[in-house]
Amino acid sequence: MGRNAFTKNVPEHTFATLNKESSYTRLAISPGVINKHYTPAQLQKIAEIVGEDGAIKYSASYYLLISVPTEKRLEICQQLEDVGLYIAQQGAVVDMKACDFCDGEKMEAAAITEALYKTFVGQAVRNRLRLNVNGCASACYNAMYDDIGLVYQQDSFDVYVGAIPMGRHAQAGKLFAKNVSVENIEAFLQEMLHIYNEFARENEPFHRFFKRTKAEAFWANLRVSHMD
Ligand code: SF4
Repeated sequence: MGRNAFTKNVPEHTFATLNKESSYTRLAISPGVINKHYTPAQLQKIAEIVGEDGAIKYSASYYLLISVPTEKRLEICQQLEDVGLYIAQQGAVVDMKACDFCDGEKMEAAAITEALYKTFVGQAVRNRLRLNVNGCASACYNAMYDDIGLVYQQDSFDVYVGAIPMGRHAQAGKLFAKNVSVENIEAFLQEMLHIYNEFARENEPFHRFFKRTKAEAFWANLRVSHMD
């Protein structure tokens, strides 16, 4: 037991070393936003696509990062989607994380999570922004450590903002609004993103923007306007 814990601390193939030889694109893939289980067929397809010489790495955002030759990117994306894999959009857009809803046993918030995904994921924002939805107060997928964390309980969400996900000042977000109803959460987030896009500086991360503006009236107005 444990004999391989440190046998290969420096990987042979990384995204950086591959790109010295040729042009590679990195894809972030997963079995879905909620589902965290890969099938053998999906793993076989990933292995086939990456081959002996490519790079596969897991990330802190529940994705596998794989290197693919840039000129074959579109064709490979199609193959990955054909085996049911999800490919995250890159860049300054809204990305979504979610818990696994106890592997499908606590699905009360799944439908609204999917609705929020359809509305927000891929929406252009000042800087990449992660929305993390957790299906109960246990919040075991760390919703409060992402830009906007939603914690579901009894037909409503507690909304956390301002988390600093990494660095020496890393910290959890603070509770921004309590019990925003399922009916209101989409409009609530829409307004939050509108404020961010309207008043943030170019490329300003959400947590920095929130820290700089948290005393502004627009945040107080947002809280009040969506109280039930
Ligand atoms: S946050 Fe709650 S619903 Fe989601 S996986 Fe954890 S315990 Fe299950």
